[in-house]
Amino acid sequence: AVAPRTVRDWFGQRARLSPSSTAVADATSGRTVTYRELDRTVERLAGRLAAEGVCVDHHVGLLVEPGVEAVAAVHATMRVGACLVPFSARLTTNELTPRIDRADLDVLLCDGSTAERSLASAGDVPVRSLSDPPEESPDDEPDGDDPEENGRGDTRADPLAATDPRPFDLPEWDPEDPLVMLFTSGTTGRPKLVVLTVKNVLASAAASAFRLGTLPGDRWASPLAPSSMGGLAPVYRTTLYGATLVRCPTDAEGLLAAMTDHGATGVSVVPTMLRRLLDAGDPPDSLRFVLVGGAPTPPELVERCADRGVPVCPTYGMTETASQIATAAPGEAPAAPNSVGRPLLFTDVTVVDDHGDVVPTGTPGELAVSGPTVTPGYYEDPAATRAAFGTSGLLTGDVGHRDEAGRLYVHNRKDDRIVTGGQNVDPGEVAAVLRELPTVRDAVVVGLPDEEWGQRVAALVEPQPGVALDAGTVEAHCRDRLAGYKLPRVLAFDDIPRTESGTAGRDAVRERLAGERP
Ligand code: ATP
Ligand code: MG
Repeated sequence: AVAPRTVRDWFGQRARLSPSSTAVADATSGRTVTYRELDRTVERLAGRLAAEGVCVDHHVGLLVEPGVEAVAAVHATMRVGACLVPFSARLTTNELTPRIDRADLDVLLCDGSTAERSLASAGDVPVRSLSDPPEESPDDEPDGDDPEENGRGDTRADPLAATDPRPFDLPEWDPEDPLVMLFTSGTTGRPKLVVLTVKNVLASAAASAFRLGTLPGDRWASPLAPSSMGGLAPVYRTTLYGATLVRCPTDAEGLLAAMTDHGATGVSVVPTMLRRLLDAGDPPDSLRFVLVGGAPTPPELVERCADRGVPVCPTYGMTETASQIATAAPGEAPAAPNSVGRPLLFTDVTVVDDHGDVVPTGTPGELAVSGPTVTPGYYEDPAATRAAFGTSGLLTGDVGHRDEAGRLYVHNRKDDRIVTGGQNVDPGEVAAVLRELPTVRDAVVVGLPDEEWGQRVAALVEPQPGVALDAGTVEAHCRDRLAGYKLPRVLAFDDIPRTESGTAGRDAVRERLAGERP
């Protein structure tokens, strides 16, 4: 049998279908490009990558500020059939070196602002800049040119734009081919490198559209960088849907202005951003969905949205599942503000006990996921891959339950469970009690090692801005609501250290609390 020919070129196909629609509106630079215009950039970039020898099975690293160039690079990498490995532009050389090393890159793409770090972290990997070449010829002395001004100093990466594009054949692909590899957030330890296939990303885009809907003329705002699936998903999906990607700044005022100016119909945020957004003003009426996830979304935040008519859609997802596992459809959240909604179509979620046996509805257990969005595994790490899969599929490491209506609730991470003096303490329950206080903005509860009790309950409490919390009041509130063994023995008031996806970095929280006297 002859397999149907499918080419790796979602962007080119979209550009032929809706050439004059706006592909990207970059609210930061003010630049707006149509699909036809951006397709020319993608084609040039793909030709230059091909001239550098980049082809199927190669790994293309991307370390750039989010923007139109970054979007073009994502699609050009797909067009030549290579696998994309995006890195957060916020990472330091120290953090980049081991990640670049692990990803087996064939080339690393940078821009003016990341060139120096790229060259310092890339080792033997060739580094190419997406930024335009300097005006003067490369061997000219940059006389009078202030190295501070262009931010590159003498550490200029060879500009890719100087490479002559080479014609190339559009590679065909198998749905099981890797499309992108992404690092997890590193909440529980060393970030893991997740392989996502064409099928994973496509199934996720389809199932998400079935839940949230997609309409001609949709404008999807995203302040999230394409180095995480939450930020990369809108880049692929707007292309598949024929919608516009509105690139937004991360600060609340800038994000609000961008969404309003561009009449955003959807937006992806992490919970901290959503809270700041609501503090900053009223999100525009054009919004059909506000997708919030990546970290636990406090129910108070969902209720605040509901009160203000903001169409909040809590979502639960992970890098290993190409983002969403479950998502509340627009309008569903207010009825169950603690829930992350029902699993997406095609995605199966099973709640299992420590032996992998399925538990009854309503009983908490580990969430296991199977379906077409689930990763084939971690890159060249069979041991980690084996450990991550059980008989019910991918073991998320998250504890939660399902209600009679099929909605999912995520409680906490499995290895966050605290055992003190032989008693189990659910850190999520203690944190929820702390968050009941109107003076408390957020709280994280962890177990610290304790010689006598095995572990002791410790809480890091973030006060509302400008509020000085009083330990006595907080302790009295907890004593009122919690059994003695659940009471935090260590209590500190401070900002909660967060990863880019908004989760509380566990090691950083522990470190912050370890210095506190019980
Ligand atoms: P690492 O795997 O490196 O420890 P990470 O798990 O935080 O980091 P991600 O893949 O970015 O890396 O995040 C997925 C995790 O985020 C989920 O397993 C879950 O713990 C948490 N999460 C995501 N969305 C939600 C949500 N709506 N409610 C609660 N937790 C969530
Ligand atoms: Mg994880």
